[in-house]
Amino acid sequence: MLKRILGSYSQGKRGPLLICSTGLHGNEWAGVNAMELLLQILEDELVTNPTFTFHGKLVAIAGNLPALNVKKRYINCDLNRIWSQRNFDNPGNEAEFGEMMKLKEVIDDLILEWGGEDVYLLDLHTTTAKGGIFSLPTTEVESIKIAETMHAPIILGLVEKLNGTMIKYYAGRTDAHITALVFEAGQHDDNLSINRAIAAVINCMRTIGAVAADDIENRFDQLLIDYSRDLPKMANFLYGHHIAPDDHFVMKPGYLNFDRICKNEVLANDRYGEIISKYEGMILMPHYQTQGDDGFFIIKEVESHQII
Ligand SMILES: [Zn+2]
Repeated sequence: MLKRILGSYSQGKRGPLLICSTGLHGNEWAGVNAMELLLQILEDELVTNPTFTFHGKLVAIAGNLPALNVKKRYINCDLNRIWSQRNFDNPGNEAEFGEMMKLKEVIDDLILEWGGEDVYLLDLHTTTAKGGIFSLPTTEVESIKIAETMHAPIILGLVEKLNGTMIKYYAGRTDAHITALVFEAGQHDDNLSINRAIAAVINCMRTIGAVAADDIENRFDQLLIDYSRDLPKMANFLYGHHIAPDDHFVMKPGYLNFDRICKNEVLANDRYGEIISKYEGMILMPHYQTQGDDGFFIIKEVESHQII
């Protein structure tokens, strides 16, 4: 039986608190597996590297436990779209509202214990379509700085666009300083997604000063570097297609993340007819699953930090 706190690592030295959340979507097990392996890698490091020093604390947590148990994105509703003060004050009866309140209590306690400063929240996900390796920072400089070390395309503006996500809530907290971002490690069932998630967390631990660059061999980092070679370094969010209930949305088959699309290209169909792209750009997270109401996103490559 999966526990809410998958594990933690600390040597009792001062430093940042890094909370890695996994499985907010129950069909995304790669993050869970990655954190269990990484915690073991950290435990083993001292055996071969007696001078290994870890500053601060790493805590790995699991999100939607009932959905993870049945490997579904969610039971009643998307746990990563309901984080709001209104829902905390008056949570619904759906399974995910209970999960949100339990998750929030665990994370809030960790933040409080750390004094609300030097706190980082890295939310690990995977995608249905292949090729989905990217990071989603907030507009905060520190968040973008961490994303830049993850050797994966950085998508700007999507965190701001999506309402009710966990990291948007925590990044917006005014009573604590929390640097938050999302890392998408690849396709749900691709075993390499586990390795890429491990590599991203190690890079994050280095950037925030938890571990020195020489410690913990990051043997999976080359996977990220190789995979991202032909992908844009940075892209701006342009458009998101929302699926309403009974839309009968069907994505055209065969799209991969970062596939280039033309203006006026037919991307999908629903009960109103063809859904045509208003933009030239690249496709992100095309909807090839039965659950969820994000149809697809369109992004545009940028040369520098042009946040829209
Ligand atoms: Zn997800």
